[in-house]
This record gives sequence, structure tokens and C-alpha cells, in this order.
Amino acid sequence: MRPRWTSRARISLRPASRRFTTLGIETSCDDTCVALLTTSHSSPRATLPFHKKSTSDNRSFRGVYPPTALAGHASSLANLVSEALSSCPGVRLDLVAVTRGPGMSANLAEGLALGKGLSVAWGVPLVGVHHMQAHALTPRLVSALDAPAAAAESLEEIAPSFPFLTLLVSGGHTQLVHSRSLADHAILANSANIAIGDALDKCARLILPPDVLASCPDVMYARALEAFAFPIGEDGMGSYSPPLKRADEIAPTVSPHGWSLCPPLAATRRMAYEFAALESRVQSIVSDLPSISVPQRRDLAIDIMKVAFEHLVGRVLIALEEDPSLRAASTLVVSGGVACNKFLMKVLRSMLDARGYGGMRVVAPPVELCTDNAAMIAWAGWEMYRAGYETALDVTVLKKWGVDPSGKDGGILGVEGWKRRQA
Ligand code: AMP
Ligand code: ZN
Repeated sequence: MRPRWTSRARISLRPASRRFTTLGIETSCDDTCVALLTTSHSSPRATLPFHKKSTSDNRSFRGVYPPTALAGHASSLANLVSEALSSCPGVRLDLVAVTRGPGMSANLAEGLALGKGLSVAWGVPLVGVHHMQAHALTPRLVSALDAPAAAAESLEEIAPSFPFLTLLVSGGHTQLVHSRSLADHAILANSANIAIGDALDKCARLILPPDVLASCPDVMYARALEAFAFPIGEDGMGSYSPPLKRADEIAPTVSPHGWSLCPPLAATRRMAYEFAALESRVQSIVSDLPSISVPQRRDLAIDIMKVAFEHLVGRVLIALEEDPSLRAASTLVVSGGVACNKFLMKVLRSMLDARGYGGMRVVAPPVELCTDNAAMIAWAGWEMYRAGYETALDVTVLKKWGVDPSGKDGGILGVEGWKRRQA
């Protein structure tokens, strides 16, 4: 168990203009995350006096192993909260925001139980946050953190304003979402089976040379795949040229090394994502090349990311072509761990430009806010609280919880447990 990163650059709890302080807790997977977020009802500016995460070491399982992740929360969470409170002497909590779902039940329960306890002990409201809503709202947090101290704009002007499009690309989800308002996020495309992060992690385990794999500091093998594919970073991505039309996009990627890769769901414009087949394709390519060289591995890494990312962006283009009303969303947010990938951003920007959407703004949160974190939970909790929502103390965690109001469970607000506060 080791703290992965911490940020205290923005400490500014000024008693004279006491701000609203939210404690955020995130435990849905293997990251134990705690944050203190200060906001104000009169200014769009937010600060993060405390933001820290501790990640259990799952490397020997080559992926997240739920009991190990749970033990990590049990040993780290209370200590992180204690550290947060003692790092800001005199802090007074106004709200506790904790991830209620979706995620691993036992892991969520560890966070929710402590969140309830803190809410009772401090006599402050609780908001049970939807993890995916929090990812989608993260760019609004980023602009609030970046707002100048004397920002005079109204809270309603926090960017991006609704509606906007979001690509949620993480280890557990791949979704194209139309975010129409705070709690109304319509899913336009979803992954049929495994998420893009999971698929790239699995491909990376096959492609990375054994010594590179062995030196990975965690189980985010896809991050290591990007670093391996582009050792000089973005400067090495210059040779990418986007498919100029759908026919080019669905043509197989043929390598001079002899393999070819077919884009997923090439024969259909159905709004869905499919990444499961990538791993088996890589498996068969690698077993056909018993003495695969490092340059071959590097080219395979680039090809697999190209195919996965063009599939991702291809569905964004289909959505925009089929429903012109979506073009009112002039911002495309990319969030979740895979959004850290600079080659994804290159493919996305290049394809949008090449296909007539050069005016669409693409924003991705900084790395520490792209992967799971508690700042986004605190922010989403605060946005919900400000809109009049609190969570009852008798709620339980939600392993599955849709984000789309037209879904089976009614989306974020469709589940039981919300209490509406009169403004
Ligand atoms: P999350 O589920 O949002 O915490 O994101 C974790 C997922 O993001 C894992 O599958 C990681 O391997 C993946 N990830 C992190 N960094 C990168 C990167 N640079 N490129 C691709 N995937 C990444
Ligand atoms: Zn996540």
C-alpha cells in the first residue's frame, strides 16, 4: 500500500470568508481516495486543500483482485480521512460526499459506512454520489479549480455548460454520453462486454516485453503500453493520419510485419462499443510470431491503440451524423483513466477535424483527475447538494446504477434514497 500522489497546492481556508467544505470519499474499485474541496455559493471558484489516494498492490494478480482492494480500503481509508482533517486545522465540514455506486459492493460499502458515520458525527448532510456522473462532471471541477481568486462570473457559467458530450473511457466503462443537465446523462453508446481500459490492459500484457511488464508499478498496463509505443511521447505521434471517411475507417489495418487488424463492429453503424475481440486477436498475432522483436511489439502496440481509438471516435462521428441536435453540444469531454492517453487525444482531434467537426472543443481533465479520485466525488456531491439533493442515511450501495434517466433503474435520480431539500 503506498500513497500514489498528493496535491496540496491550493490550501486557502480563509476564516474571514469561510467557504463551503465538502469531504469526498471514493472506494468503488482499488483506489482509496479522500479529498477536501472548498466551494462557495457565490463564486465559481473551488480549491482542493487535500487530495490524496492510496492504491492496493494488485500486481501479483495481474489485475484488480477484489479482496486485496477491499483490504486496502480497510487499512487506508480512516487514516486518510484523519490525515485530511488534521492537515487543515480548524476545518469545519459542511457536507460528506461518498461514492454510492456503481462499483464493487463490499468496497463501496467500506466508503459509504464511513461517510455515514462522518455525516452523523459532524451533523452535516450526506450525498451518495454516482461514480460515472462524477467522471462526467470533472471538467467543470477543473474549470472551477482554475477560476481566478476574484472570479466574478456566476456559478451558472462554470464550463463546460450543458449540454456537452462525454466519452467515459475507464477500466470499467466505455460510454458515449450526452450530458444534458446535472443529473441527465443519456447514453448514446455503451460497451457490449469489456471496457476499453480493461481490453488495452489485457493486450498490453501480451505485447509488452517481459522486462517492461515486470517493471510496471501497478496494474495500469495500458499506461505502460502507451509509454512503450511512444518512447518520445507526443512527438512520435506525428505520422498518424486519420481516416478521411467511414470506408477508410473500417478498412483493416495491415502491417508490413504481416498481421492485419479489423476494426470492431466494422459492418454496422449500431451505436455500441466492442473491445473483447482485441485481446484474442493480439494473442493469435503474438503466437504466430514466436520470436517477436521489440520493434514489432512497438508497431503492434501502436496498431492496437489505433484500431481501438478509431472505433471509439467512429461512434462519436456516427452519433453526430445521425442526430444533428447533438451538434449543439460544442464540447466533447474525455474522462476516465484512458483519457490520459495522448495518442487517443491525437486520434480524436485528427478525426474530428478531418470529418468536419473542427469546431468541437475537446477537453480532458489532468491525469490525477482522470483516473478515480475523490475530488470528483466531492465536486459531484457538491453540485447535487447545491441543486437541492441529499441522501438519506438508510441507503445501501448500488453495485449497478445507470446514469441514463431512460434506463431500467431511472438513472441517477431514479433510485431510492434521495431527499429533496427546499432551496
Ligand atoms: P479508471 O478506471 O478511470 O481509474 O482508469 C483506469 C484505466 O485507465 C486502466 O485500465 C488503465 O490502464 C487505463 N489507463 C491509465 N492511463 C492510461 C493511458 N495513458 N493510456 C491508456 N489507458 C490508460
Ligand atoms: Zn472510474
